[in-house]
Amino acid sequence: MTSVTGLGGRTVGVLGGTFDPPHIGHLRAAVAVRHALALDRVLLVPNGDPWQKRGVRPITPAPLRLEMVRAAQAVLASGSGVEVSDREVRRDGPSFTIDTVVALQEADPDLEVTLILGRDAAALLPTWERHDDLLRRAHLAVVDRPGSAPGPPLHLEGARLQEVAIEQLDVSSSAIRDLVDQGDPIDVLVAPGVAAVIDREGLYRA
Ligand code: ATP
Ligand code: MG
Repeated sequence: MTSVTGLGGRTVGVLGGTFDPPHIGHLRAAVAVRHALALDRVLLVPNGDPWQKRGVRPITPAPLRLEMVRAAQAVLASGSGVEVSDREVRRDGPSFTIDTVVALQEADPDLEVTLILGRDAAALLPTWERHDDLLRRAHLAVVDRPGSAPGPPLHLEGARLQEVAIEQLDVSSSAIRDLVDQGDPIDVLVAPGVAAVIDREGLYRA
């Protein structure tokens, strides 16, 4: 995707999630999509209050998830163009992606925003708050992940969507939580600093 804003325009990818915990699948998606679409930057945006996951399972407090996302980002080479944004953790109330996109565009009206989504997350987008407005404001970059049925190309009414082929890493936060609960190692799947926070806080042990 080239910038539609021309000279001086900026492009940013937004990879939001609960990141409970962040893992190599998240980092690779951020790095690979940024490269594939030549985005200036990609923001990892941990949500503060993942309203759609409320009541499903206990969610690790947002400040700890933010600390883990920072630790994950820290393994990337300097100049990776992948950054962490704490704006959804700082904001009160349920974390709506539309609010994040609006805030980014208010700060920089020329900003072209691309939401980076795994296919599982993209399929749920019609359930998101003010998704019509979101689709008007942002492009979508959808990546496959193991376990999400490849199926027919995703069609979202009104979306400027492109599927980006990246290598698929069979890793999920749920699988990592299960490994921790069973006392199995999670090295390599998460950054050392992420494993350190999990250890320190005793996360994911039933
Ligand atoms: P959980 O298992 O708890 O749902 P998760 O691994 O799916 O965790 P999320 O924080 O829910 O992680 O996902 C944030 C975003 O990252 C979503 O768009 C999701 O599709 C994407 N994502 C997560 N893991 C991968 C992966 N291995 N490859 C590509 N995209 C991924
Ligand atoms: Mg998920």
